[in-house]
Amino acid sequence: MIIAIDGPSGAGKSTLGKMLAKKLDLLYLDTGAMYRAVGLAVINAGAELENETEVGKIASQASIELIGEPDALFVKLNGEDVSQKIRTNEIGQAASIVSTISEVRKILVEKQRILGNLSKKGAILDGRDIGTVVFPKADVKFFLTAKPEARARRRFEEDSEKGRAVSYETTFEEIRKRDERDVSREDSPLHIAEDAIVIDTSELDLGEVFEKMMSAVAKFEREKTSAGFR
Ligand code: C5P
Repeated sequence: MIIAIDGPSGAGKSTLGKMLAKKLDLLYLDTGAMYRAVGLAVINAGAELENETEVGKIASQASIELIGEPDALFVKLNGEDVSQKIRTNEIGQAASIVSTISEVRKILVEKQRILGNLSKKGAILDGRDIGTVVFPKADVKFFLTAKPEARARRRFEEDSEKGRAVSYETTFEEIRKRDERDVSREDSPLHIAEDAIVIDTSELDLGEVFEKMMSAVAKFEREKTSAGFR
């Protein structure tokens, strides 16, 4: 089974993706972490984030690994554990810039398809283009969204807990910039797949969203079983 979770930054995709993966015993793939790893690789190399040729070359040469369980996920870049380093706002912006480059998307989409298909049990992928480009035939597609203010507030609180918050206003501005790049880029812009289940998480708590997602998965499984008996 392949489950796609798409949506803008801060809508709760990764938290819910991990919760679902644990509950359903599926592989969890955080595709944003891959774009972040490329952003970090470009910064490490001292190259310009907008330089398509250079960035494409760096992405094609980088070894990016996602290892572990949903609760203890490690991201390795060229053998180095960069799980913490890629979580800064600076790398978030860098990822958002390099993700507009087609060569980068081509390389990472290919990796994501291989990893998703390799998993015997199935996989949950979270990102921006999973249900539209990476796995257009995913079994269940979710599009999680929330008002920008709610997303910025959550991101700000998460960052504060981890001791890396700037200010709510800066967080809001960063989310706004990333949204703008995500929806306006030419290659695979963020949009809702026709058959996606859209959940606005602005007024819902985590448990409520989780329940909605679990019932959609249960419905898919029931329909699959009954189709098998026909
Ligand atoms: O999800 P996360 O915030 O970690 O993603 C970092 C950036 O990578 C996003 O701002 C987005 O522009 C990009 N991204 C993407 N396609 C994906 C996942 C992430 O373009 N499938």
